[in-house]
Parts: sequence; structure tokens; C-alpha cells
Amino acid sequence: MSEPQPVRVRIAPSPTGDPHVGTAYMALLNLIFARQRGGQFVLRIEDTDRVRFVASSERMIFEALRWLGLDWDEGPDKGGPYGPYRQSERTPLYAEAVTSLLERGQAYRCFCTSEQLDAMRREQIAAKLPPHYNRTCRRLDPAAAAARAAAGEAFTVRLAVPEQGATTFRDQLRGAITFDHANVDDQVLLKSDGFPTYHLANVVDDHHMRISDVIRAEEWISSTPKHVLLYQAFGWEAPRFWHMPLLRNPDKSKISKRKNPVSLIFYRQTGYLPAAMVNFLGLLGGGMPVADAQAGDTAATEKFTLADMMARFQFEQIRLGGPVFDLKKLRWLNGLYLRALTPEGFLQAVREGMFSADYLAQITPLVQERIETLGQFLDLADFFFLDQVLPPPEVFLPKKRDLAATLAQAAELLTILESAAWEHAALEAALRQLAERTQWSAKEVFMLLRALITGKTASPPLLESCLVLGRARCSDRLRRFLAHPHGAK
Ligand code: GLU
Repeated sequence: MSEPQPVRVRIAPSPTGDPHVGTAYMALLNLIFARQRGGQFVLRIEDTDRVRFVASSERMIFEALRWLGLDWDEGPDKGGPYGPYRQSERTPLYAEAVTSLLERGQAYRCFCTSEQLDAMRREQIAAKLPPHYNRTCRRLDPAAAAARAAAGEAFTVRLAVPEQGATTFRDQLRGAITFDHANVDDQVLLKSDGFPTYHLANVVDDHHMRISDVIRAEEWISSTPKHVLLYQAFGWEAPRFWHMPLLRNPDKSKISKRKNPVSLIFYRQTGYLPAAMVNFLGLLGGGMPVADAQAGDTAATEKFTLADMMARFQFEQIRLGGPVFDLKKLRWLNGLYLRALTPEGFLQAVREGMFSADYLAQITPLVQERIETLGQFLDLADFFFLDQVLPPPEVFLPKKRDLAATLAQAAELLTILESAAWEHAALEAALRQLAERTQWSAKEVFMLLRALITGKTASPPLLESCLVLGRARCSDRLRRFLAHPHGAK
């Protein structure tokens, strides 16, 4: 009899921005799964999307997961027997995989330009058809297509999805799931920049890294038939799939930064304890037996450690309804943890969490120019330490503007804070562009941002202050300002 395959699981975050609470949730579940089964937990960086790539993101992911104590066994920083663990360092493997699919007629080169694909998409939408690739290039003679590619014409490679039939796979929580091939697009596997798409790289790596169980968010279910078809095309055995319920905003929509802080950095910077965050994530979606609820003491039953989870978490008990990422609950839980600290532990948490030497060293240069007595330090710098800054209209409303226009401008500012490159020149350029586009003076735009970030009309240098506060906290200030019922009855 052959040995059962050892359990190997992974998370595969894409370094496209701040580390996301969803990544921590998946890391927690994968880690528990591995530890309960004596398996290995792998961290793989899926950095093949060069357009959305953010250089600092990988380091932030490592730091955030370490802060939470969700450590991995193999990864880009640790190495391991199946490395490298960064997809950008594995491109030869994908090229080899694509060649083998092309040779076997399981994939084909596509020369359609993005203009042609856009036009196709528009026509399909107009005809009320779901957008899909119409397979023009699938009919090309493979040798002729190879010659065009060799002559330097740009191409992508697509999966030749069988035109008839359906693909069925088993989801460990949901049972059999079937997708009719009529609804599965000829997925691009290799982009024209030579980089693989998520689908190809993910399957090739899960195979080569000997992943036994893919535990990921529900949003990937619709990709799974493509993955299963790829495993079949390669002649590889597919891993088991476990799709976890998607975290939701209180209004049940998919969790998003527009409605909730989703950056782990935000939670770290604003004084959440890692143990409370891990506990909170462990409560989402079930899995932890919270047995003694009848006793009425929810605090006693809902409070548990990572070690408790390793001992008692049951994957079979996960509920499929999307768990709400309820900030009120997280704050309540965090409060339990803070109040349970010893006085010394609490002092240390305040010192390290709120007044670390590193943080103070970033702030003092910004106020030194303006100070006359040390007693004024917090008068100048209070906003670096406040949880919420909600200025009244006399502070935030520019003289010539009404409330509606100002709120609309604040929403534009939030978009900039969320998406601009996080450095001085890029932020400044984006703000000036916004002023021009909306016909506000640059001064008005900067004043509004100053009011929303600092709560005041005069402050230390604004953009420098934003950079010290960080993207997550600045965005949160604007989000809370926008959610506030300004004067509404
Ligand atoms: N790179 C994907 C992500 O960003 C990985 C999804 C998966 O686990 O397959 O979430």
C-alpha cells in the first residue's frame, strides 16, 4: 500500500498592497490545519501580476503575519525543499508547463489584440451574452501560430477548454460542484509579457510544492474548474479543495476597504493585540466549538488562544454563510484582552503600541521647528495618537464650498489615499491633479485633507504627517468622516 500523502498546505498572497485581514484569516486556518495533521504550512508569494505589484508589500505581509504569530514552515525568507517560493523566480517552470500543454494541443496561442478583445466584449455585452473569448485563435493551425510567434508577433497562451461536457470537483465543505464547460472561458495561461496568469502559476506550484489541501477563500470557487482542467491536462492529481466562507461587511457585501479597515497594519497601529485579532478571526465562520454558550458567559466561551484552536478547531464545523467582520465585536474582544493584562503588561503594551521610540522618532522632527515648550508637544502632535479625528464644519468646510461638495471631495481624497503610491511626490501630484479636475484651489484641497487628518486648520507639514501615520490610518480617518452623519437629522 502506498503511504498517505503528507499534509502540505499553503497561503499564496499577492503582494499588491497592505497585508489584508483575509490573508491573516487564511493563514490562521491553514496553520491550524497543518498543525492538527502534523503537516507543513507554506507561504508562497504570487507576484506575477506586475501591474499591481507593490515592492514593499511582501515585507509587510511577513511582518503582519509574524506579529499575529502565524508563522510558516517554508517560504521566500526561510527557503525549503520546494523553493523558490516567489513566483517571479519560478518562470522557467511555467514556460516548460506551457510548452508541454501546447505540444499536446491542450493550449493554444492567441494573437487577438486587447483592442479586438475589448470590441468582442462590448459586442457580447450588447447582445446580453456573458463576456468570453470567442475562440478565434483556437482554429489557427498550431504550426502557423508557432511561426507567427517565432517571427515576434505578440501572443498569449490560452487553455483549450473542452467544448462539450462539464467539470465536477469536490469541495470538502460543500460536496460536488459542477461547472458546465459552456460557462468556462478559454483562460489565458501565459500573458503577452511572458508572465503566467494566476491560474497557471497556482496549479503548477501547488503541484510542484506537493500541496495536499488547498484552503482558500470562496471567491476562488469559480476558478477551480479551470484549475481542475489544468491538472487533468498535465496528467497530475489535483489537491483537495476547501473553500472558506468570504468575510463580509456588516451589510453582507464582500469585505472591502471602503467600509472596513482591512489592512492588518491598521489594526497593529491602532492598538489591537495580536492575540485578540487571532481569537476574533478564529470565531469567524464557526469551527471552534463554543459549547458553553448556555451558561451565558460569552466572554468565557468566545475567548480562546491559538493553542486552543490547534486543539479544538473542527474544519467540518465551518459554517458556509459569510461571517461578518464585526468591528464592534473585535473591539469588545480586544478590550477583554487589554483588561486582562497585568499592570506591567498593560504599561508595556501602551509604551510599545502607542509610544514606541521608533514612532516618536518619526514625529519629533515634524514638531521641533514649531515648539516653544515641551508642554506643547501634544498640542501640536495629538493627532498622531488619537483614535478618531472628527473635525466640526468650521474646521473642515472651506468658506466657498457647501457640505455636499466637500463630502464629495473627501471621497476623492479617500480614493487618493487608498491608491496613490505612498510617497510625498506621488501624493502631492495626485492632490494637485484633483484640485485641477474639480476646480478647487490646491490650497482648499490641502486644507480639507489637513482638517480630516489632523482635526485642525494648522498642523505640522501635512504630507509628512500622513506618511508617518500611514496609509491605513489616514484612510480610516476619511472613511469615518464620510460615514459620519454630518448635520443629518
Ligand atoms: N494569489 C491568490 C490570492 O491572492 C491565491 C489564491 C489561492 O489561494 O489560490 O489570494
